[in-house]
Amino acid sequence: MQYQQILDTIKAESLIRSNTGEVASYIPELAKIDPDKFGMHLYCINSGHYGFGNEDERFSIQSISKVFSLTLAMTLLEDELFERVDVEPSGDPFNSLIQLEYENGIPRNPFINAGALVIADILVSAIENPKQKLLDFTRKITGNPTIDINPKVYDSEKKHSHRNASLLNLMKSFGNIKNDIETVLDLYIYQCSIEMSCRELATAFMIYANAGNTLSDNIQVISPRKIKRINAIMQTCGFYDEAGEFTFRVGLPGKSGVGGGIASIHPGQYAVTVWSPPLNVKGNSELGMYALERLTTLTGFSIF
Ligand code: GLN
Repeated sequence: MQYQQILDTIKAESLIRSNTGEVASYIPELAKIDPDKFGMHLYCINSGHYGFGNEDERFSIQSISKVFSLTLAMTLLEDELFERVDVEPSGDPFNSLIQLEYENGIPRNPFINAGALVIADILVSAIENPKQKLLDFTRKITGNPTIDINPKVYDSEKKHSHRNASLLNLMKSFGNIKNDIETVLDLYIYQCSIEMSCRELATAFMIYANAGNTLSDNIQVISPRKIKRINAIMQTCGFYDEAGEFTFRVGLPGKSGVGGGIASIHPGQYAVTVWSPPLNVKGNSELGMYALERLTTLTGFSIF
């Protein structure tokens, strides 16, 4: 497959499109990002690295971190984890409170905020110093010890986390949060403030394309069975109330973040990441979705 040629075509096509998206502003620090940043990186199991643009510039991974926290939790726990968070698409925005009330505090899936907060609670119960452990886990699967958080983004979200605090309070009233709300919220905001580049994220996401193995360091991080399950949740829930649209247009499992990143995989083939900060109304990178749609169209391959 001529991946570099295909990526060059995607870049040329993308740059002449008018982007109607808007950079996230509800976390004030994110609003400062240059909306014209655009990078893409593809890491192929058989033939290595391809990319273009701002592929080496780190950005706020935000909700993409929910995949890493779920993965870490699944290395520590078995099926009992899914008694506290379901695996169904929500059809609602990522930060919605509505379903939680009539579904007794059990979030629909681990990739909406409520579900990721339950996972954070599970990590707080299961391990000492979960912030450092989650950061170390991210460094391990990326093979890069310099991965870190952006303290300004962390501080900024801390001051604007009322909605996530209300999700935690509501779930605690149903008994589905075991720890102190401030502690759980702190871990969640910390993980969202991790910064990675497209190249680093594609490298980390190789475990999802390669049955749980890092490929570069040949570390089996988690079992193929668990990877199958995480990929299934990415496919059905990775884009909130746009998960159907992403599956329809792109046809790969993936996860987005309000920093404008999307990480996606083709099992057995490659991991790919795009970064373009302007978001569509569902909170997913507008140009990122376009670029990935073109990737599966130009290669002629998706998982379907
Ligand atoms: N930190 C963000 C929030 O909780 C993450 C949301 C996202 O990336 N969709 O609102």
